[in-house]
Amino acid sequence: MIGKPKIAFYWASSCGGCEISLINLHEKLLLVDNHFDLVFCPCIMDTKRKDVEAMPDGSIAITFFNGAIRTRENEEMAILMRKKSGLLIAFGACAAGGGIPALSNFHSRKDHFDTIYLNNPSIDNPDGIIPGGKTTVPGGEVELPDFFEQVRTLAQTVPIDYIIPGCPPETHRILEVIEHIINGKPLPPRGSVIGAGTKSVCDECARKKNENRKIERLVRCHEVIPDTEKCLLEQGLFCMGVATRDGCGALCPTANMPCTGCYGPPDGVSDQGAKMAGTIGGLLNFDDLKELEEQELSRIIDEKIARIPDFPGMAYKFSLADSILKKTSE
Ligand code: SF4
Repeated sequence: MIGKPKIAFYWASSCGGCEISLINLHEKLLLVDNHFDLVFCPCIMDTKRKDVEAMPDGSIAITFFNGAIRTRENEEMAILMRKKSGLLIAFGACAAGGGIPALSNFHSRKDHFDTIYLNNPSIDNPDGIIPGGKTTVPGGEVELPDFFEQVRTLAQTVPIDYIIPGCPPETHRILEVIEHIINGKPLPPRGSVIGAGTKSVCDECARKKNENRKIERLVRCHEVIPDTEKCLLEQGLFCMGVATRDGCGALCPTANMPCTGCYGPPDGVSDQGAKMAGTIGGLLNFDDLKELEEQELSRIIDEKIARIPDFPGMAYKFSLADSILKKTSE
């Protein structure tokens, strides 16, 4: 190979937080520059899609691809970057599990467009125009990419090599991966999660846990000031540590906030939301209710669960597109 290996960063449907985590490498970015030729990164340089299309297939050594697949353009870029890259890494929670954009999978495309363009008090759209397709403007013709019915993960769109999870991935974990590659160390089998652990956030959380824990009710963050040493889940807070991969250093519980699940499920857990539902079911104390009629018991269970206004949205905040609830066809 002549010159340094090429590296690329691309964002699809995402918020830009993954790039901020990358920029937070600060002077360590020079390490990346020493070893790689950055050829594509729309958030910090003005390379165009046609420039990437002109590159030989497989000529980019590594592409870090963040963001979910929401639109036709996202899909086209995923296909293009797969074709041009030796290693394609799903970088961050949106590429890995759909992330926040995939929460929209609870609704249809029609629901979204109705809310955004038609039935919204802040919209003035008397002709009921929904943007899309091709439009002729003074400078030529512009085309909005198709908006898919459902958000997909990168791996549901093209074959990927690795996943670096997190919303966003922790900067020191990104550096760890980059240094690993620079030092020529062997990589794990294709499809593995890298830059994170294999266990759960609970395993790296220093809070005191009680084996025989039971709670009377769920509480929300604004309703309590949590004890700083005791497990947050045992205080009734919806802490997702038990259903979430370690690797962040248990950042949120350390800051007295519940884990929201951004590193996705740990090894051995295939569905983050189902794991949380099971955990909460086992945690809530129903011992005094055993003698109740089924209907009354069911009412009380519903009442306890309704303490969390959007249980599925909380439990699948970062992994809905890759969950057992995902749609299998458009
Ligand atoms: Fe820590 Fe949350 Fe796990 Fe409790 S549930 S041990 S607070 S990560």
